Amino acid sequence: MARKLCDPELLGPWKGQGLTLATLCSHSSLQIFHGARQEGYRSLGIAQGRPPRFYDAFPLARPDGFLTLPRFGDLPDHVERLRSERCVLVPTGSFVEYVGPERFAKLPIPVFGNRRVMAWESDREKERVWLESAGVRMPRRYEGPSEVDGPVIVKYYGAKGGRGFILAKNRQELEGYTITEPHVIQQYVIGTRYYLHFFYSPLSEDGYRVGEGSLELLGMDRRDEANIDELYKLGSQEELTRSGIRPTFVVTGNVPVVLRESLLPDVFDIGERIVERSLELFGGMVGPFCVEGIMTEELKFYVFEISTRIVAGTNLFIQGSPYSDLVRPGLSTGRRIALELRRAEREDRLDEVLS
Ligand code: AMP
Repeated sequence: MARKLCDPELLGPWKGQGLTLATLCSHSSLQIFHGARQEGYRSLGIAQGRPPRFYDAFPLARPDGFLTLPRFGDLPDHVERLRSERCVLVPTGSFVEYVGPERFAKLPIPVFGNRRVMAWESDREKERVWLESAGVRMPRRYEGPSEVDGPVIVKYYGAKGGRGFILAKNRQELEGYTITEPHVIQQYVIGTRYYLHFFYSPLSEDGYRVGEGSLELLGMDRRDEANIDELYKLGSQEELTRSGIRPTFVVTGNVPVVLRESLLPDVFDIGERIVERSLELFGGMVGPFCVEGIMTEELKFYVFEISTRIVAGTNLFIQGSPYSDLVRPGLSTGRRIALELRRAEREDRLDEVLS
């Protein structure tokens, strides 16, 4: 049975009309605008201050129009313009960061994907309930320092943008830190990071079947993180800590990766479990999502985070990836979103992919 995500009243004026794909001028906007154009959609860039000049350098990814706001956070005051152009918002990490999860959830404009997922993603406790109940392996969580029996990463609840983490190799080292703010102590998993770019289509009737739709793997990346990735060149952690230099995980860019092919069954099993559980918990996750984890030397994958929308790592693959090329040559995640919308329009199923 088809799952309706969208209130028919919200969608009414959008049906049977020429849609515009809108997103913030940030994050993965080039790819989203390029994909929209490839599928014949109009696009609108929501800019803070002036439209960024760099779009002039990329004519194939320049949006057809701009909505300029003093601040991204003012978006709720401009819904009339979005309505008049029958905009569909394509969410990115920037929406959550700049508009805020609560205000974004209430915007009276159709959003690509299920916006109810945001409550599950933005709260680390709920995210763990979702992933663990899906049967996905996660780093162990310690209730307090006395339980610690190996390396740990301490994450403050309010930690943002890759700052505010503490690494400790053992309990003794951890006890040397004074930690006052609310935090979680997590097993530090030793291995190699992989960021898996999935796409779940509730409309698709072929491919790797999950729920009533299909799961696709469109790419993989690894994030470049300053300063942790290069810090070792300056000396050991102990020396650095003594000099007042602390590790951070600020994302500065992305590099493409592929996994050993024999690990792909595990990857699809993880994606499948997460989607199946999302269907049970909140009506499902539609469109792009990214599972972020660490592969150990025992070839066990530990998931430390999920992003339930397009991630910036997909920017590597505007002309396709070693995986998406085998779905459709040259397929980017941005174009995949536009293709899903086209199909939903054609089959009169927009209420299954918009919320
Ligand atoms: P997060 O804010 O949870 O995405 O974590 C930021 C970064 O910290 C990740 O991109 C990883 O590089 C690292 N990290 C997070 N959790 C773990 C973990 N349990 N073990 C090892 N590294 C981690």
